[in-house]
Amino acid sequence: MNLPYNAFPLDQDPYDVRGFPHRLYIGGQWLPSSDGGLIEVTDPSSGAVIAAVPDATLEDAAAAVEAAAKAAKGWRETAPRKRSEILRRCFELMVERSETLAMLISLENGKALRDARGEVAYAAEFFRWNAEEAVRITGEFGTAPSGANRIVVDYQPIGICVLITPWNFPAAMATRKIAPALAAGCTVILKPASETPLTAYALAALYSDAGVPDGVVNVLTTSTPGPLTSAMLADPRVRKLSFTGSTGIGRALLAEAAKHVISCSMELGGNAPFIVFDDADLDAALDGAMIAKMRNAGEACTAANRIYVQSGIHDAFADGLAQRMAALKIGAGTKADTECGPMITKKAVDKIDRLVKDAVSRGAKVLCGGSVPEGDGFFYPPTVLSEVSPDADMAHEEIFGPVAPITRFESEAQAILHANNTEYGLAAYLYTRDVARGMRVAAEIEAGMIGLNRGLMSDPAAPFGGVKQSGLGREGGQHHGIAEFMEAKYIAVTF
Ligand code: NAP
Repeated sequence: MNLPYNAFPLDQDPYDVRGFPHRLYIGGQWLPSSDGGLIEVTDPSSGAVIAAVPDATLEDAAAAVEAAAKAAKGWRETAPRKRSEILRRCFELMVERSETLAMLISLENGKALRDARGEVAYAAEFFRWNAEEAVRITGEFGTAPSGANRIVVDYQPIGICVLITPWNFPAAMATRKIAPALAAGCTVILKPASETPLTAYALAALYSDAGVPDGVVNVLTTSTPGPLTSAMLADPRVRKLSFTGSTGIGRALLAEAAKHVISCSMELGGNAPFIVFDDADLDAALDGAMIAKMRNAGEACTAANRIYVQSGIHDAFADGLAQRMAALKIGAGTKADTECGPMITKKAVDKIDRLVKDAVSRGAKVLCGGSVPEGDGFFYPPTVLSEVSPDADMAHEEIFGPVAPITRFESEAQAILHANNTEYGLAAYLYTRDVARGMRVAAEIEAGMIGLNRGLMSDPAAPFGGVKQSGLGREGGQHHGIAEFMEAKYIAVTF
């Protein structure tokens, strides 16, 4: 299906999504919801409604499972090389359409265009990486210890997968699941976040153009994700739930999946510590902090949520960070010079405001930013707080915004205690010139991913995921991501 991908700027009619597909994508068809219901999509930089997408019903969800089931046999029997080539074509089309996709992400999510471009490049890489992995899925063969038989282990696609994704990376969180699922030979139903459905639908059109057969990927949006997910999980043909989102919803979905003993992968919330030791390279630590804190304006699960700085370097680091944060240009994400876009909703701004006020009431000093600006849109300014109490609410909750809370520490042991004082365990960052110390502290920190002298660790070639309440399973990496969508079948052979 060829779509007018150069259709920007958008028409003024809020329900005209400027040539982008915006209907349920089921069995290769673009459909309205069975009861005609709609969900409005908002531009967070203005608060204006920019589009409406179908609000899927239980009937639509059943149709999506049916379509995925109908396509399952053909796809699992498609030669790995052919699957690989289709995934490679998805990568190439994403690269070709990257500027338009980035604009669409900026528009509905609000993130600065430079972040959206980075996201599209990252999202596309999951297709390239999994195109390469699709032809390298191997099994095992050995002799049983008794010598009586051979042990053959075959890895098979797990079955129909329900994929649920958040709004903060509308392209990458979808491709991080879809690409390995398709490489493994599974068919899927994607339920993107209600705030950012347009990117998911634009990508669905791209998969179709790349040659993904009808029914292999189905996409539906709904304002009632709980009942629809429960209904899909209750269908015995659905064998996998892969969820990225908040820990609270993840817990509820694990309980729901337990009713049917469905395999779950959970990429949940984070509360990343960013630790700067006295011997760190100050400029490198500041560069890293700006990336770890401000990529996506702080709306990232891996965002530095607590910054611990050793006494000797504390003041220079805090001053440097405040200077850099105060200089960032705030504006609509779609504007070329914007460095910090709006938050996703007013609710998100209200939460950040509450957390900042709580920290200040417990003694934090505001070095820059710190209050909600007047005007349209859901903006919060880049903010640096120092002397933040370890008891402040923001030390225990995801800020999910452009607020950098600094807490001073004295010893390595104290830094480790601070870092691990959270129910989360997704990412952590360490800055030190002493690599032995870096590796020692990395070993002690309870997190699935560590950036040692790096503010960014996401890479399709590396296993992404958390420990503790940050999740179960891994996405990306050599075999890890695909393994989540496969099941081992053991065959005992005598010959
Ligand atoms: P969320 O509220 O948990 O929503 C995530 C997705 O779940 C959305 O598609 C949402 O649909 C859907 N959902 C909500 N309630 C549901 C239910 N009862 N049953 C089934 N699906 C349901 O999270 P969010 O606010 O979109 O995203 C932010 C969170 O995601 C943060 O906690 C962040 O740390 C986490 N995150 C984690 C990773 C990671 O890799 N670990 C990556 C990115 C984000 P609606 O939009 O329709 O509500």
